[in-house]
Amino acid sequence: MEKIKMTTPLVEMDGDEMTRILWAMIKDKLILPFVDLKTEYYDLGLLYRNETKDQVTVDAANATKKYGVAVKCATITPNHQRMEEYPQLTEMWKSPNGTIRSILDGTVFRAPICIDAVKPVVKNWKKPITIARHAYGDVYKAVDLETTEPGTATLTFKGVSGEEKTVTVQKVDGPAVWQGAHNKEASIRSFAKACFQYAVDTKQDLWFSTKDTIAKVYDGAFKRIFEEEFESYKAKFDELGITYFYTLIDDAVARVIRSEGGYIWACKNYDGDVMSDMVSTAFGSLAMMTSVLVAPDGTTEYEAAHGTVTRHYYKYLKGEKTSTNPIATIFAWSGALKKRGQLDGLSDLEAFGGKLEETCFDTLNDGIMTKDLVGLVEPGFKATAVTSEEFLDAIAERLAAKLA
Ligand code: NAP
Ligand code: MG
Repeated sequence: MEKIKMTTPLVEMDGDEMTRILWAMIKDKLILPFVDLKTEYYDLGLLYRNETKDQVTVDAANATKKYGVAVKCATITPNHQRMEEYPQLTEMWKSPNGTIRSILDGTVFRAPICIDAVKPVVKNWKKPITIARHAYGDVYKAVDLETTEPGTATLTFKGVSGEEKTVTVQKVDGPAVWQGAHNKEASIRSFAKACFQYAVDTKQDLWFSTKDTIAKVYDGAFKRIFEEEFESYKAKFDELGITYFYTLIDDAVARVIRSEGGYIWACKNYDGDVMSDMVSTAFGSLAMMTSVLVAPDGTTEYEAAHGTVTRHYYKYLKGEKTSTNPIATIFAWSGALKKRGQLDGLSDLEAFGGKLEETCFDTLNDGIMTKDLVGLVEPGFKATAVTSEEFLDAIAERLAAKLA
């Protein structure tokens, strides 16, 4: 069989631990036998990030800007414990995802991969719900203050022109806690654009929620900016038959629970943090959740939502065969290959991505799955737990048959 051709390289970011092991297996078994793979490879494994003083992460992000599509393996974000585990580290390097996100100015979209055998906890959910989380500002970049005596707090802005604006926050008669939060108009606008663009790309309705009845100025700005940005997408939405819908966060929560799914829910930073954990848990498993970073110019980076699965890696190092679920990482590859195919007008490549995903579903529907999923299937569904390697072999076999 002739291998599927590529014209532009995919930016490939390798990672750490168990997902790095899966990464190589996925390439060997599911991609390289079928695709004449072109990638520009960046090793984002912790040790190489350390060796290059994290320059490799910056280079990978810039390459993503250049080529437009990247696929990323999960990576370790070092903490104090990792500094002890890897004594050669010269610094507690920042989260690669954070670095890439700030260079691409992107928004993260997380969507569950749903299968019939694993039903969502919310029984009326039939289709995936994608959460778009704004990734800048609010409480995550806020300053806090604790005071112990009666007094008054004010909030003052000093413009470069010399103009000053002051408001009284509160006058208190005893000890109090305070917080100063902000967001930037440009960041909110990028977030809005990324959400509208992603809705168009995936042909799904877009919901957006804030609490603008209470935070009239702050959340009011989010609502207004979304409305303004929607103007340039309106015609496209009409053409595709999709809608943009704004509502209050509490109303959104009620509607989400009652819905069938099948839309994108855009959330402010904190709401997205909380709601994405709720939605992913209710859909079943972190191992079945994909994550896409989309920049306002359409640049995309695909990855799995889970981490490097450290516990399994230590078993692997002891020579044990693990049953780590590779689905989200495979979907990162298939998503990136489909996108590359679309951008380059390579229908074979785009179709390959789709077939790879279909084959994953076929294999799971045949009851062949990793341990984490076997524990979640509906009563009566016959499932066998296999190792990651056996699972990938079962997919590869079906993929070869499908492509023949
Ligand atoms: P994790 O790697 O997501 O794993 C947490 C637990 O979830 C695992 O121990 C496992 O449970 C289960 N799990 C996650 N993915 C699975 C899969 N594919 N198949 C089967 N089970 C899976 O989170 P973590 O242990 O908190 O973090 C480990 C490292 O990942 C950290 O160094 C962190 O910095 C990094 N991280 C990276 C990213 C990223 O690059 N995007 C995201 C999050 C975390 P059982 O042990 O019960 O089997
Ligand atoms: Mg969280």
